[in-house]
Amino acid sequence: MAKKLIIGNWKMNLDYAEAKSLLQEIAKLKDDFNSDAEIVVCPPMPYLSVFHELLKSNDWIKLGAQNTFSQNAGAYTGETSPTQLKSLGVEYVIVGHSERRDYFEEDNKFLLQKVKALLKEGLTPIFCCGEQLQVRKSNVFKEFVMKQIEDVVFTLSAEEVSKIIIAYEPIWAIGTGKTATAAEAQEIHKLIRLRLEKNYGEKVSKAIPLLYGGSMKPDNANELLAQTDIDGGLIGGASLEAEAFAKISMLY
Ligand code: PEP
Repeated sequence: MAKKLIIGNWKMNLDYAEAKSLLQEIAKLKDDFNSDAEIVVCPPMPYLSVFHELLKSNDWIKLGAQNTFSQNAGAYTGETSPTQLKSLGVEYVIVGHSERRDYFEEDNKFLLQKVKALLKEGLTPIFCCGEQLQVRKSNVFKEFVMKQIEDVVFTLSAEEVSKIIIAYEPIWAIGTGKTATAAEAQEIHKLIRLRLEKNYGEKVSKAIPLLYGGSMKPDNANELLAQTDIDGGLIGGASLEAEAFAKISMLY
């Protein structure tokens, strides 16, 4: 069975003082979090160093990054490498979030380079996929999502693929308050699981965490997390409230 994960993506929110106080609030709520789930926070990049220090006394909270570059060092002004992230205690890295695909035109070829670079450093990529509203309406959304996965995930060896996480995030549900119904989410998660099984076998397929992301909140998380092929959540807005984040983790 895949590991259960509750991952908070703070995006480009909160100044330094606010971010530190949210982390401290989360740490104080330790007993309100599900101890069977891996709890991960992905703060903005500049805060990783201090968070690394703060989390030494709260190592039940794992550190994630929202992005990485595909090279480990060199003349790449403004970028951050997998090696640098690793040196700050980062364990998980989001790759291919729809906001990066849309605003920074990151394509599957580049995302694959990032995934490979992370795996080489022993970091866990959280590979995001998902369709826009017009794609969902056009009824080819399953093929669309599977193509994103094929171009990146299915080029990996079984050993590599067993070290990644896949997050299905329908773009029309991100930050909009609209959520995929539990049945809609399960349908695509099941499809991903079956394709993983076809390519890599049952054991590998079952061990890969498949997360749902898109307006997950305490009032809808229960039904989503109860689905057979949903192994956790990638949570944006609700992860900025310590209590809501804790509550979601308890809804397995
Ligand atoms: C996200 O950005 O990954 C996300 C799921 O955001 P939200 O929960 O706010 O929809």
